[in-house]
Amino acid sequence: MIEGVFSKRTLRDAKVEPGQTALARVDFNVPLERGHVADDTRIRAALPAIELLRERGARLVLCSHLGRPKGRDPDTSLAPASECLRELLGGGVYQAPEVIGPEVRRGVSRLEPEEVLVLENTRWEPGETRNDPELAREMAEPADLFVNDAFGAAHRTHASTVGVTRYLPAVAGPLLEREVRTLSAVIESPERPLVVILGGAKVSGKIELIDRFLDLADVLLIGGAMCFSFFRAQGLATGNSLVEAEDVEPARRVLLKAEGSNCRLVLPVDLVVAESFDAAAPRREIDDTAVPEGWMGLDVGPRTREVFAGEIVAAGTVFWNGPMGVFELEPFAAGTRAIAEAVAAADGMTVVGGGDSAAALTKFGLADRVTHLSTGGGAALELLEGKPLPGVEALDDA
Ligand code: ADP
Ligand code: MG
Repeated sequence: MIEGVFSKRTLRDAKVEPGQTALARVDFNVPLERGHVADDTRIRAALPAIELLRERGARLVLCSHLGRPKGRDPDTSLAPASECLRELLGGGVYQAPEVIGPEVRRGVSRLEPEEVLVLENTRWEPGETRNDPELAREMAEPADLFVNDAFGAAHRTHASTVGVTRYLPAVAGPLLEREVRTLSAVIESPERPLVVILGGAKVSGKIELIDRFLDLADVLLIGGAMCFSFFRAQGLATGNSLVEAEDVEPARRVLLKAEGSNCRLVLPVDLVVAESFDAAAPRREIDDTAVPEGWMGLDVGPRTREVFAGEIVAAGTVFWNGPMGVFELEPFAAGTRAIAEAVAAADGMTVVGGGDSAAALTKFGLADRVTHLSTGGGAALELLEGKPLPGVEALDDA
């Protein structure tokens, strides 16, 4: 696998003495259902960092945010995540009732080497999102080393991602390192052709990404709800398909730019349409992309699936973000399934980013058939857009 450069100090190179305390920022921002972790992918993704620290006899303090609470909110407690971690590690995991304070100090002082204390949701502290130096100082206080393994939060300048690095030696965990290396390789040194597939819901959120890939990629395949902004910009009928008025102008600019670029922009050639956003709604396949009045496009059609799959299989590098249709509903899942299968079958390096795209791959049982499945939605997109990630920048240089 091709890897991009990584200029930061990593946990592998860091010196950790037995009995030292490491503060690790992990990404335990997991979905909960009735008080339990509904998908433990992100917790399992943190295990290599946790194991590296335990092998060296460190005492571990883990911190993460979960959801977007505005202060102390029991529904967003990290207790379900620490329960899940306790099962994965077979014990030795304790949950603190707060982010900073006397209970945390007591908990840390009682930790044996290799044991883990999970702090409460960092966003329970208002200083977290403000990157408050006082909060960061108190979080760093009991630790000898800071490890950032939360790639999914690396685009945020928060106390637990950036603030703490002022007070401790700060290194990258293996997940963060792998994410940055792999995603950087896609834009810096891809095996050609680089084929990028973009779908999902909103153009405006991904416009910078589209723009950048017009400069970098050889082929750009566009599906999902996103394609209807392009069809509208081309003057085609889009019926009741999801089109945000503010997305049409950016789509027009992209079409113009594509004409003069070396990147081939490919839009769907046929569609699956339905009368409403409903699995039971009347549904049909249309052989072009003019959506009849009263209908909405909810998936790409069979010819498009073939065209897209052909490009993907011939790629040297594939990056995929955003489902091709409403894959959550079976009648509109075929487009996304076909793309997932093509990506899984491709010989080139294959990288998938985005929460829903990852969910789709998992649903089709193909998550372990790609080179890299990124755990960080927003952070992955910002890195690919070429923006610096504050949580990475703040780490010690190698
Ligand atoms: P990701 O999380 O992978 O970045 P997005 O969040 O941008 O992807 O978009 C995912 C959502 O887009 C899915 O919930 C999917 O149902 C929806 N979607 C895809 N195609 C369509 C469509 N044609 N009409 C409406 N919604 C769509
Ligand atoms: Mg999403």
